[in-house]
Amino acid sequence: MKKIALLGATGSIGQSTLEVVRNHPDRFQIVIVSSHSKFELLQEITKGIPIEHIVMTGNENTITDPSVHQGEDALLELLRNTDYDILLNAVVGSAGLKYTVSGLESGHDVALANKESMVIAGEIVTEIARKNSCIIIPVDSEHSAIMQCLNGVRERSQVRKVILTASGGPFHNLKKEAFKNITLRDALQHPNWAMGNKITIDSATMANKGLEVIEAHYLFDMPYEDIDVIIHPQSIIHSMIEFIDGSIIAQLSFPDMKIPIQYALSYPNRIRATAEYTDLSQIHELTFYKPNYEKFPLLKLAFEVGKAKGIMPTIFNAANEAAVTLFLKEKISFIEIPEIIENELSRNNIPNPDLETIISIDTEIKKKIFNAYK
Ligand code: NDP
Ligand code: MG
Repeated sequence: MKKIALLGATGSIGQSTLEVVRNHPDRFQIVIVSSHSKFELLQEITKGIPIEHIVMTGNENTITDPSVHQGEDALLELLRNTDYDILLNAVVGSAGLKYTVSGLESGHDVALANKESMVIAGEIVTEIARKNSCIIIPVDSEHSAIMQCLNGVRERSQVRKVILTASGGPFHNLKKEAFKNITLRDALQHPNWAMGNKITIDSATMANKGLEVIEAHYLFDMPYEDIDVIIHPQSIIHSMIEFIDGSIIAQLSFPDMKIPIQYALSYPNRIRATAEYTDLSQIHELTFYKPNYEKFPLLKLAFEVGKAKGIMPTIFNAANEAAVTLFLKEKISFIEIPEIIENELSRNNIPNPDLETIISIDTEIKKKIFNAYK
């Protein structure tokens, strides 16, 4: 029985994780579950699942049930002092970083959906994992695909490239001139995946693929020059690796996050699917295109901030989170998202920032942007 701490249970990844757990009650047990603001939803979706510790990290002290732990500190304390095997971090945004760190520091493996942890503190997080002999297993479908493709590769020097696939989002075919008319409703219509609002907007701007490039760099220790992005609108191939002899290995399935979530939980084993098995005869065609950096400047910028290292990925991520929040509140237009981020990137870099610096710059940038659009 694998004991799981599931953070962000009320979200899209969190709820898919609960489905996987319900499908395999003989293998998985939830020990800690957290959400931020939606207590009633949390109660509803965990009905019938025995759980030791329920934690609400937001709206502290608003819940009268004494068995519910409340606040971030209560969760951090539980992550350090409870008996569990794997932390599945499905919190959205940089708020997830402290939990990733806490899980790893207390010697736990982490199934990581919270890509922002890796983007803003990739060096620190991978070093803590190494020191504590913990593994970080990606939940992100592209990174799960790469990890699966890399299984059985004897020598890493035989890998020439990592090829991340991207659906291209809802605006893959839209002309650049029309981007100024994009509405919130348009941007929330992802063609292949049903996800939380933040990552759905990130997919529309392709900032998401940019964040994933940085995530791949740290997870697989790949130089940026060896990470390619290719548009693949069907989202059937979740990513690929190319070997030095020209062979390419890919991982395929219908787009369903239950597959990478379950793999992260069952790793290194494979168990009966929770998701529907893939019927290739329904797919008909797989197509590929080069990304258009002019239409999607954030993808190119992400490569640049990744290469610059230091505090630049934190600035990129914080400005993106703030801009996406403003767009979701309809306070800015779609094309203002990259403008706000570019504007923040004129700051000076800070080499090798520690966790405190990363968290304080993240907070400072968000505050500044929110204040400017009050
Ligand atoms: P959602 O917005 O659907 O869910 C986010 C979860 O995080 C909710 O449970 C929410 O609680 C909780 N939360 C929000 N703010 C905080 C906070 N400050 N502290 C603690 N918990 C918080 O997000 P997704 O499930 O879509 O995404 C989660 C992560 O997984 C993101 O990093 C995303 O990039 C990544 N990911 C998601 C994919 C997807 O298919 N959705 C695919 C690949 C990666 P509450 O609802 O109670 O407020
Ligand atoms: Mg992804």
